[in-house]
Amino acid sequence: MKLLQQLCELQGVPGREEEVRDFILEQVKDHVDSYEIDPMGNLICKRLCEGSDRWVMVACHMDEIGFYVRYIDKKGYVRVQAAGGFDTRNLFARRVTINTRSGKIVGTMNPGGPPIHIATPEDRKKVPEVKEFYIDLGLPAEEVKKKVRVGDPVALNQDFVEIGQYVSCKSMDNRTACWTGINLLKELTQPTQNIAVVFTVQEEVGLRGAVTSAFTVDADVSIAIDVTLACDTPGIDEEDYISELGKGTAIKVFDSSMISDHGLREQMIELAEKNNIPHQLELLPRGGTDAGALQRSRGGSKAITLSIPTRYIHTITETIHPDDLRATLSLLKAYCEAPVQ
Ligand SMILES: [Zn+2]
Repeated sequence: MKLLQQLCELQGVPGREEEVRDFILEQVKDHVDSYEIDPMGNLICKRLCEGSDRWVMVACHMDEIGFYVRYIDKKGYVRVQAAGGFDTRNLFARRVTINTRSGKIVGTMNPGGPPIHIATPEDRKKVPEVKEFYIDLGLPAEEVKKKVRVGDPVALNQDFVEIGQYVSCKSMDNRTACWTGINLLKELTQPTQNIAVVFTVQEEVGLRGAVTSAFTVDADVSIAIDVTLACDTPGIDEEDYISELGKGTAIKVFDSSMISDHGLREQMIELAEKNNIPHQLELLPRGGTDAGALQRSRGGSKAITLSIPTRYIHTITETIHPDDLRATLSLLKAYCEAPVQ
């Protein structure tokens, strides 16, 4: 899990994925027939299949939810704009890193208002908006203003840890997919169609990188790799689990961005059964992945998502079972090497 740890601990808020992209490129450049970085910053890596004119696009988004510096007040406290969906209840007492022109600076993030010791009962019930949070850099205002600029990206900090059978970190959404894309390129021996693994940008703010890169690749089949909710935890009915940790890769049926191609879904199930790859079917009532954009690019493509079941998505405690990640890679690889249907 060393590679996953390295990927998760990198920082790449939407629109500023360069640190992640540079790292991925180092990993894959000796395992591709060609690669390009498009104007939006998507990294498009190709593996060719001689004699085939069919293309499969695999999308793995590189970005993580984060912030941009919005305002620095006269005391030097930094206010932010969210880039991606946050539940602010998970943002109290966080360490963050601001990526400035002159390097990274660590600060603490908390909402404005009194601490619990002196808070009124009403204060305690309030769920603050992102607007109310501030970053304390422990520096005089003049120094903060010299270093930090409006528009600097801000990422949440968290170390990667093993917890029992699981691993946990920030940014499992979606560095687990980057791990899968990198390993697919490394392990793919005999693709039966041309494969474009695209490490996309700006998924968390609306599948933006997928829109342009799908147009460029013009694929027949599109597969997004992403996390999905695993709500197999206290306080949730079993029928609402969506997926469960340790039960294999989740083959997507439906989310609010896309309904997976029926034939492709059947083929994935068949391949999983044939190759003894643990799998589960997943239906997510709300939320989407890059596949929602890929399916509707140009004249359309047959699309599906393979998901890595993940607990506590969009918090810094995103948790997965490594076996589910390996199952996702195995099924993706099996598809890329299977006879074309
Ligand atoms: Zn994601």
